[in-house]
Amino acid sequence: MYQLSNSIIILDGLGPKTQQRLNTIGIFNLEHLLFQLPTRYQDKTKLAKLNQVRVGDEVLIQLTIKYTEQVSTHKKQLLCYLSDSNHQNLLLRFFYFNQYQKQNFVRGDIIQCFGKIKMGQNSLEIHHPEYRLISKGQANLLEKTLSPIYPLTANIRQTQMKKWIDIALEVLQQSDLSDNFKNLTNNAMPTLKQALNTLHHPKVYDNIKQIANFKHLSQQRLIIDELCAQRLNLLKFKRKRKSKTSNIFKIKNNLIQKALNTLKFKLTKAQQRCINDINSDLSSNHPMLRLLQGDIGSGKTVIVIFACLQAIENGFQTTIITPTEILTAQYLQEFSNYLTPLGIGIAFLTDSQSAIQRSKQLEKINSDTVRIIIGTHVLIQTQVIFDKLGLVIINEQHTFGVHQYLSLVQKSHNTPHQLIITTTPIPKSLTISVYADLDYSIIDELPPGRTPTNTIVLGNEKKNKVIEKIKQVCNTGNQVYWICTLIEESEVLRTESATNTHNYLKKNLEELTVVLIHGRMHKHKKSNIIAKFFKGKIDVLVATSEIETGMNIINTSLMVIENSERLGLTQLHQLRSRVGRNLDASICILMYQAPLSYNAIARLDILRKTNDGFKIALKDLELRGPNEILGTHQIGITNMKIANIVRDRYLLKQVQSYSKQFLKLDKNKQHILITRWITDYNNPYDNI
Ligand code: ADP
Ligand code: MG
Repeated sequence: MYQLSNSIIILDGLGPKTQQRLNTIGIFNLEHLLFQLPTRYQDKTKLAKLNQVRVGDEVLIQLTIKYTEQVSTHKKQLLCYLSDSNHQNLLLRFFYFNQYQKQNFVRGDIIQCFGKIKMGQNSLEIHHPEYRLISKGQANLLEKTLSPIYPLTANIRQTQMKKWIDIALEVLQQSDLSDNFKNLTNNAMPTLKQALNTLHHPKVYDNIKQIANFKHLSQQRLIIDELCAQRLNLLKFKRKRKSKTSNIFKIKNNLIQKALNTLKFKLTKAQQRCINDINSDLSSNHPMLRLLQGDIGSGKTVIVIFACLQAIENGFQTTIITPTEILTAQYLQEFSNYLTPLGIGIAFLTDSQSAIQRSKQLEKINSDTVRIIIGTHVLIQTQVIFDKLGLVIINEQHTFGVHQYLSLVQKSHNTPHQLIITTTPIPKSLTISVYADLDYSIIDELPPGRTPTNTIVLGNEKKNKVIEKIKQVCNTGNQVYWICTLIEESEVLRTESATNTHNYLKKNLEELTVVLIHGRMHKHKKSNIIAKFFKGKIDVLVATSEIETGMNIINTSLMVIENSERLGLTQLHQLRSRVGRNLDASICILMYQAPLSYNAIARLDILRKTNDGFKIALKDLELRGPNEILGTHQIGITNMKIANIVRDRYLLKQVQSYSKQFLKLDKNKQHILITRWITDYNNPYDNI
């Protein structure tokens, strides 16, 4: 018999390739499979009656085959006509099929099928149902419990995922799952085992609506578990760090004064306060572990620069780790703007560098010529040897877990000071509890003179107007960013549709430089285009949405977002924030394809009305339909599996008190809890 701690590689039909894919979504052993929860359920617990079904229902139904027919319109289709005992009809429609399948549909036979009811021309229809030929002795589709549908991540098929998770569930029935909450909650909640069983295979009487809203006791049980693990992890981290000594930076004003002289603006009070907080950490002998939080555009960069300057004054290097290459490029640009006038050199590391480029940069990093090093995770992974690392800055950007960069610490001189930057628009009270009371500074004031981006919502039929606007904007020397957000399944299709848009714009904007950038391009080509755009040599940049991550283009005063009705609020807010950084009033045009759903109207409307990241984040939660988001995370502090700190904020008080109690439990139990949820956790505490 298997153990929950067994690697997933022992499962039938699961090879090294699949193993690797599952590893990337945090599944290493059978226990991890248990925490891969369904996104929704199908009800195959009863047979529906044809005269009672409604369009849109997903039903299991048993009928008699009348006849089949093969038709060819532009493509071949197989039609199979069914009827019930009252001679009411249902049509099964197959767009792809084989002859064997066709021959198997025999007049008079009983068939069971499951699928979504659609309205056809002459009768109700189901397209590509799951079906069983009952007369031929095929097994019944009826189930005792609701059937889980798992998120299809990592290119795994539904049937495979289901099979493997079912095995894990079987193992679970005979295993002991460490469950510290049993004691902590006095049995007020289901055990972990019960909770998992319920969520994978709810009974018909279980409250599915509650599950869809993440309010089911079984979910609360898991959410608390996960949030406790996250918090415990941070608390341990913080505790350990507090016991370390770091390099004391003497606060000096020499470089700072020079930098201030080159600034074209005055620091806001909020910025000054954050700088003071950081300076006081840097000058103490305990390593700084501070969170700097501010909405996009609130002016975090200059604060970071000032921290770097203190490191330099004291002879130390600073490294800035960003989640994407594009952000690295952007930081490099921004930092050069600030630091080149001061004669400070910067090194950078990215995945797309050639071997020669990389070794050149590595050499610099290991020498005393460079004090600032910017890069992606490569900074952690490669054999980077710093000359004298004293300050580590992490740009969290919603995805980066605090534990991931700990290996960097080994590369540094004493325990380095650390600053985590986040744009996550969550309220202060949440920040404190989620980040486990890490020291934090919040920029609660935007730089003055910011004109909020004027947001316009336009239907696709008004494309002409947009073209006119683009001409206007470019005539005044500004740039335009056009985002294609087609959520096509394949990158090929996305590229194709972006290419079409690009051609359309080129044709209609002959006098302007219109350039396309997309995910399938070679990395070098991409960075070239971005560099050109930064330099103002491109008027209109057409980009597929996977490119967007973190571009900050000062000179862009018009952003057009295609198919905006298909994007989430937070995503739209982030995209929009990339404009509106210069003094000219900026415009964001949200284009949509009519008709809009009620929900889409509300989404676009809130964007029209406010630029406030926090308001938008809350509205986002409010608007998302329960079925739409089961299992996904709008705002993840780290990559959480089930919990969502904004949605689940009502549980945080409990989490705080439980994790405090956990801290008193033995280390092994803590380790079990943490590794259950933080699967790329690699017991880093021994290293710091
Ligand atoms: P964030 O990193 O928080 O998204 P940035 O640091 O990139 O924001 O700042 C956004 C823009 O605001 C930049 O163009 C920057 O030069 C400008 N800026 C920053 N601080 C101020 C200030 N105090 N007054 C005016 N402009 C500022
Ligand atoms: Mg910035």
